[in-house]
Amino acid sequence: MSEISDRIRIHTGDITKLKVDAIVNAANSSLLGGGGVDGAIHRAAGPELLAECRTLNGCRTGDAKLTKGYRLPARYVIHTVGPVWQGGGKGEAELLASCYRRSLEIARDHSCQTIAFPAISTGVYRFPKDEATGIAVGTVNAFTQQNSVPESVIFCCFDEQTAKLYREAVAALGGAR
Ligand code: ADP
Repeated sequence: MSEISDRIRIHTGDITKLKVDAIVNAANSSLLGGGGVDGAIHRAAGPELLAECRTLNGCRTGDAKLTKGYRLPARYVIHTVGPVWQGGGKGEAELLASCYRRSLEIARDHSCQTIAFPAISTGVYRFPKDEATGIAVGTVNAFTQQNSVPESVIFCCFDEQTAKLYREAVAALGGAR
């Protein structure tokens, strides 16, 4: 795990393996499971996760909801619904920023000191990776400057190419301090 600043780290690997207080799921609005990172999280957490998700009545795009982590090493899963990329004129950037903010607010309100994010919306939802990375890093950096909890935020990248984009975006902030 490369340590970019005291509070923001970049990790390349599978988010379901991380022993943190909360991992964030890039879910869909039904919260009833899907492919990509969502499928991986449900497989690793076990059927109890889907059972709890069924009680939540879905989630709006840009918002987030918390469940327990069940068989995951993480204590909680924060399910957020990223925007589907439709060309950039449908409020996609603001909705993606809202996913990061709402997830961090919920983590803070549950006293989570460590939280890990996947690259929300950059898979099946086709958000351009460059722009999504800038939004992710900018929004998290702003939040950590205004809040002491969560203490540590991990960007969990599934591949090295994505990790490189994150390192560049963090470097552009001057080490994210
Ligand atoms: P979305 O529907 O929000 O686009 P996806 O799951 O399709 O969500 O993709 C979001 C990102 O999560 C992609 O960059 C993908 O490479 C990454 N990803 C997929 N599986 C995992 C995993 N197990 N751990 C971390 N990241 C993952």
